[in-house]
Amino acid sequence: MKHKPIRAIFPGSFDPITNGHLDVIGRGVKLFDELIVAVGQNPLKDVLFTPDERVDMIRQLIADKPRVFVQSYDCLTVEFARRVGADVMLRGLRNLTDVQYEFQLAMTNRTVAGIETVFIMTSEEYGYVNSTMVREIALLGGDVSRLIPTPVYDALRRRLESRPSTP
Ligand code: ADP
Repeated sequence: MKHKPIRAIFPGSFDPITNGHLDVIGRGVKLFDELIVAVGQNPLKDVLFTPDERVDMIRQLIADKPRVFVQSYDCLTVEFARRVGADVMLRGLRNLTDVQYEFQLAMTNRTVAGIETVFIMTSEEYGYVNSTMVREIALLGGDVSRLIPTPVYDALRRRLESRPSTP
């Protein structure tokens, strides 16, 4: 029996995309027919790259993955899922703090929009990586080259060099 293609979204702020996110994308796409990396805007987080810049970076990084796409959105995540006809939301889990938060989010999204969430566990080597930490370490001059893909690292360095330095 032929099944309807399963389209999933992988929503996040991806500011910037890290090796942890890429790992989730690489393993997650095997579970679906199509995966859309959905770049959202989080008003509570400080922004380093604009959504368009994040989309461009991600597009480069997924160029070798024909079933992975990237789009930005500025509505509710469940509304974006509905618009693109996605049945499932993919999320990554790093630790128990993520579980607690993601559990609540997944329940809410299922209740309000009937969308299911599929979780994928982080790889051991990326379990501690998050974008906020990458931004903070980079802003304070630390080396984040092992946490993010090389083109993202280059873009990050250029962005920081062009920023006025804080006293
Ligand atoms: P972050 O939490 O790094 O700021 P996002 O808000 O963009 O990133 O997160 C999008 C999704 O990616 C979330 O489900 C988050 O749990 C997941 N994720 C982020 N980093 C990792 C990682 N290192 N391993 C597994 N999942 C991750």
